[in-house]
Amino acid sequence: MAIQLPSPPKVGMVSLGCPKNLVDSERILTKLRSDGYQMSPDYAGADIVLVNTCGFLDSAKEESLEAIGEAIAENGRVIVTGCMGKEAEVIRARFPQVLAVTGAHQYEQVVGAVYEAAPMPPSAFLNLVPERDLKLTPRHYSYLKISEGCNHRCAFCIIPSLRGDLVSRRPDAILREAEKLIAAGTKELLVISQDTSAYGVDTRHATWPWKGGEVRAHMTDLARELGKLGAWVRLHYVYPYPHVDQVIPLMAEGLVLPYLDIPFQHASRNVLRLMRRPANEAKVLERIHRWRDICPDIAIRSSFVVGFPGETEEDFEYLLQWLDEAQLDRVGAFRFEPVEGAAANFLPNPVPEEVKEERYARIMERTAAISAAKLQAKIGRTVDVIIDVVDGEGGATGRSKADAPEIDGEVHLRDAHALAQGDIVRVLVEDADEHDLYGVPVTAL
Ligand code: SF4
Repeated sequence: MAIQLPSPPKVGMVSLGCPKNLVDSERILTKLRSDGYQMSPDYAGADIVLVNTCGFLDSAKEESLEAIGEAIAENGRVIVTGCMGKEAEVIRARFPQVLAVTGAHQYEQVVGAVYEAAPMPPSAFLNLVPERDLKLTPRHYSYLKISEGCNHRCAFCIIPSLRGDLVSRRPDAILREAEKLIAAGTKELLVISQDTSAYGVDTRHATWPWKGGEVRAHMTDLARELGKLGAWVRLHYVYPYPHVDQVIPLMAEGLVLPYLDIPFQHASRNVLRLMRRPANEAKVLERIHRWRDICPDIAIRSSFVVGFPGETEEDFEYLLQWLDEAQLDRVGAFRFEPVEGAAANFLPNPVPEEVKEERYARIMERTAAISAAKLQAKIGRTVDVIIDVVDGEGGATGRSKADAPEIDGEVHLRDAHALAQGDIVRVLVEDADEHDLYGVPVTAL
């Protein structure tokens, strides 16, 4: 039985007023799209309609009120944002059925109101960011989506049929969004897309004006410019195309976090071919070794699927040996499950459930042992840690540069009274287990 996908909620948007308001609308929609929401071009198809209002002149206010009225009449489920949010009582008096009213630039509130009114059904295929993150992202870290869709056709994946081919955002728009996020308190930018390495191929890596010069729509150039903005920059969903080698020196220089999230999915050429994976090339291990020579602290995270149709015991053994050699820092493993609409569902030689379970247990055991040994080696060293939560009793939890929020490990701190969320501190590592570190702050950075 193939897994049936829930359909993501659809959001309609009416954007009124000045170009600044339009930028706000784009930003809200970008955030919602990165969370997996779909856009609706009309009222009828929308689960929720956002009206981004203008309140600059009386005539603009009247136009905004009319737009709210029209959205209510046509759809009924309406959230109001923008400049008229200052006059929430006026809006509520005239349209008591409005679901929420938020003000200009209150991105988090308006996005939060959408989450509440039209929650995203949990699904790994719809949500690029981890499911648990369908709350508001804390201000100190933000996801930055650089493109939508994907040009590949991996056999187990239906994202291209849901979202279409790759469409890259303009690099200057991404950089402006990053600047705004940083001005609003973001200390860490998490670059996401379906295929970060392919960023810009659809525009033939066009260049755009940026800060008196130019910036090219290319992963390396974008990563370099983002790195100059002063926040931590973490790259997710990077396929090991040859040009990925060019970002490793940026990591060694400290412009980009020494962290690569590469969804390898398998190591055996037979299985990778059946999966129709991109960048399926033999020399990946050699490259990983080279990356570590250039940037010894690089943390590599990956995910793997076991029990893919046609995976033999030999393929699986090869994967385990490959993992021993690759010594990846963080690994997520999944048992193959057919998803409605995926080409893999029609492949011969399905792997029996009990074999999938057994392989899953083996890969988890092997990778947990690698992770534990790597973390043990950090005891006695100092690492930089960004603080996520302060518990009020002197403890705090944060993450090192090797840990992305929600998916990787944590660093648990004692004697952290003086710290606040978003602080970046140097920490002496005192202990470790399979996934987490334990330590004490040494000095604030
Ligand atoms: S690279 Fe493959 S798995 Fe990733 S989104 Fe594209 S088709 Fe899906």
